[in-house]
Amino acid sequence: MGAALQRVILVTHDDALADIFKKACERRKMTAECVKTATEARARWYDEESQLVGVVGDSSVMNPQEKYQLLQFHCEPGAPRLIVLDPPQVPDPRAPIETVTRLRWPLNAAFVDALKEIQVPMVFLTDSTLYLTGMLQARLQSIGLKTYIFESATGLSQTLQSLLGGEKEAPAEGGGFWSRLSGKKAEEEAPAEGGVPPCAIVLWKGDAFDAQPVHQRVTQTIPEARMFLVTSSGAVHNAERALRKMRPAFMPRDLIENTIDVFTTKINADPMGLGRVLLVDNFKPQLIQLSTSLMAEGYEVLAHMSAEEAMEELKTDHFHIAVVGAAIAFAQHTGVELAQKMRELDPDLRLILMVDRYPLQSALQGVSQVVEVGLDDCLLKPVEPSRLRFSISRALERRRLLLENKRLLDELKVANEELEQLTGFQKKFFATVAHDVKNPLTAIRGYAELLSWKIKDQDLMKCVTHIQSSSKTLEGLISDLVDFAAIESGKLRVNMAEMDLLQVANEVSSRIQVAANNRQIQFKMSLPESLPKLSGDPLRIGQVIQNLCTNGIQYTCEKGAVYLKIEQGPSLITVSVRDTGIGISKEDLPRIFQRFFQAENAQKMRRAGFGLGLKIAQEIVKAHGGGMGVDSELGKGSVFYFTLPLTSTPTQTPAQAGASAAPAAPGAPPKPPHPGDVPAIPGMPSMQGPHTPMPRRLQTPPPKSLPEKQ
Ligand code: ADP
Repeated sequence: MGAALQRVILVTHDDALADIFKKACERRKMTAECVKTATEARARWYDEESQLVGVVGDSSVMNPQEKYQLLQFHCEPGAPRLIVLDPPQVPDPRAPIETVTRLRWPLNAAFVDALKEIQVPMVFLTDSTLYLTGMLQARLQSIGLKTYIFESATGLSQTLQSLLGGEKEAPAEGGGFWSRLSGKKAEEEAPAEGGVPPCAIVLWKGDAFDAQPVHQRVTQTIPEARMFLVTSSGAVHNAERALRKMRPAFMPRDLIENTIDVFTTKINADPMGLGRVLLVDNFKPQLIQLSTSLMAEGYEVLAHMSAEEAMEELKTDHFHIAVVGAAIAFAQHTGVELAQKMRELDPDLRLILMVDRYPLQSALQGVSQVVEVGLDDCLLKPVEPSRLRFSISRALERRRLLLENKRLLDELKVANEELEQLTGFQKKFFATVAHDVKNPLTAIRGYAELLSWKIKDQDLMKCVTHIQSSSKTLEGLISDLVDFAAIESGKLRVNMAEMDLLQVANEVSSRIQVAANNRQIQFKMSLPESLPKLSGDPLRIGQVIQNLCTNGIQYTCEKGAVYLKIEQGPSLITVSVRDTGIGISKEDLPRIFQRFFQAENAQKMRRAGFGLGLKIAQEIVKAHGGGMGVDSELGKGSVFYFTLPLTSTPTQTPAQAGASAAPAAPGAPPKPPHPGDVPAIPGMPSMQGPHTPMPRRLQTPPPKSLPEKQ
C-alpha cells in the first residue's frame, strides 16, 4: 500500500505567494491547498484520503482578527501544526505593535538607528546565553539608551513603571527590582532621569509564544512599551523548536518554501545561517570573545559554562558543531570524553577541542586525540577567534560533504535495489522465453519438417517452407536471448575439448555459402593447410564464425564480397572475416560490442536480431582465453577478427582456459590480421576493438545445434 498523499494548507490573499507555494509543494510531491480565510482552512483539516502536514498563515496580508482566529484554531485539540509568515522587511520599532517582535542577532543597523528616535520604555527578551545579553547591552548603550539587565521577567511591568518615575521601590513580587539587577546594586543605578525611557534586557529561556503573556502584562501597565525577542538562532531553527513543542512557529515570508521542509523535518541547514555552534568552556572571557566573533560572522551560537547544561541542550536541540574546552568538568569526565558523549548523541555532530597550552604534556595529548577520537580540530588556548572561525568553516564543509555523501549513498542504494529488481525481472523473462517459447518452437519445426515430407501440393509446400524459415529465424532469436541470459548471470558454458578449427570453418562455410549465393555475394575462404589441434568448444567457435560471416553477408550489398581467413602465429591463431559492406562509423565503433547496440546505418539492411550477436561472440572468445576486435571504415567495409591461444593441453573449464592462454591475456583484443593477407580495403584505418577483462565462470551447456542467424 502506498503512503497517504500529503497536503499543506496556505492561508493567503496573495496569488503570487500561493503560486510559489504550489510549485514548492509539487516539487516535493505534496498537494497545496490555498485558501483565503482561517475558517476555510479550518474546514479542510480533516480528510480521510490524505494527511495534513501543516497550515501556513500569511500574516503580512491578514487582518489581526483573522490571524487571531488562526492562532485560536491552533489551540484546539488535534489541530495541525501552524507556521505564521512574518513580513520580510526589518520591523520598524516606531510603528505601534500588538505583539512581541522577533529579532535576530546581530541587530540590523537601520533598526538600531530607529530605536534612538522612540522615546518609550523597551523590553528586550534575549536568548538564554549570557553573552548575547552582554553584547546587546553594549549595542544599546552605544546609541545612548539606558539599559538594565534582569535575570527573569517576574515583576517586570511594576519595575518598569517604577523606573519611569513611579514608585522608588518595586513591589514585593519576586523580590525587589534592584536586587534583581544583574551584578549591580540598587544604589548604582538611578531611576531614569531627564526623560530617557528605561530599556530592560531580560534573560529569556522561552520562545515567542511564552513571551505573549509577559507582553500583555507590560502593555497593560505601560501601553506604549515595546517588546522585542532577540535570539541568536535563525528563523528555521526557531520554527523547528516551536513545532517540536506543539507551538505555532513564525518564519519570515521569504522563507515560504522552507516551511514545507520544516513541517517534514527535511532541513539540514538553515538557509539563512552559516551553522549552529555549541560552545562549552569554563573560561568566561574566552567564551564571550568567541561567541561575539562567531555571531558577528552569522553563526547561531549557544554558549555554556556547564557541561551538563550543554549535554541537556544537545538532547533537545540540534547543532552542527560543538567546540569544547578540554578542561571542562563533566561528571568526572574529561572534555574529550564529553565530546565523545556528544558524538554518541548525534553522529553527524562535528567536534573541535580547545586545550590549554600548559602543561605541555596534556596539550600534546589533546592534539593527539584529534586523530584517535575523530575530532575535527584541536586548538591551543587562548583561541584566536579568526582561527576558530576558520576551523569551524572547515569542519562544517566536511559535515556538508559527509551528509551529501550519505545522501548520495542512500540514493544509490535505492537505485541499486530498483536495478536489482529489474535485473531479476529481466532474468526471469529470459528464462521464461528460453523454456516456454523454445519448446513449442521445436515442435513447430519438427511438425513442419514432417509435413514437408508428406505434402505433394506445390502451394501447400510453399506455406510449409514459410513456416520452416520463420521458425528458424525465431529459433535464432531465442538462442541469442538464451545465450545472453546465461552471460548476464555468469552461466554461459563452453565445453572445452580438442578442437579442429579447420573442420569447424569448413562446416560453417557450407552453411554460409547458400546465404551468400542468395544475395549474389562472393564468399571466399583462405585457410592454412593444417593447424595444430586447439583447445576449444567446436560448437561455440562455429557459432562465432557463423555470426561474423552472417553479419558480413547481411551488411554487404549485392555483388560484394566476404572473406574468411585463418592464420597461425607463434602463439595465437587469428580468424578474420572481412567484407566490402557498409562499414561502421567512427562514433559507433567503440559501441559495437555493447549489448543491444545496432548502428543507424545498418537499420535498412537488418533482418531479425537484437543486437546481441557480437556481444555473445565476444564473450565466447573471451571464455576461450582469446580476444576480439574490429577495423572498419564507413562505406568501405569491415574486418572482424578474433584470436585463440595455441595451447598444447585442452582445458576443461573456461577459467583454466583463460589462465593458460599465454601469451595473450584473456579477453585482450588481438592484433588485427596482417593487412597483406586479406584483400585490403583502400584507405581503411586500423582500429582496436573494445574489450573488458574476462573470463567469467561459464557453466550452462551450449545449445544442441548452432543458431542460424539468417
Ligand atoms: P544484429 O546483427 O542482430 O543487430 P550484432 O551484435 O551481430 O547484432 O551486430 C550489432 C550491430 O553491429 C549491427 O546491428 C550492425 O549495426 C553492426 N554490424 C555488425 N557486423 C557488421 C558488419 N559486418 N558491417 C557493418 N556493421 C556491422
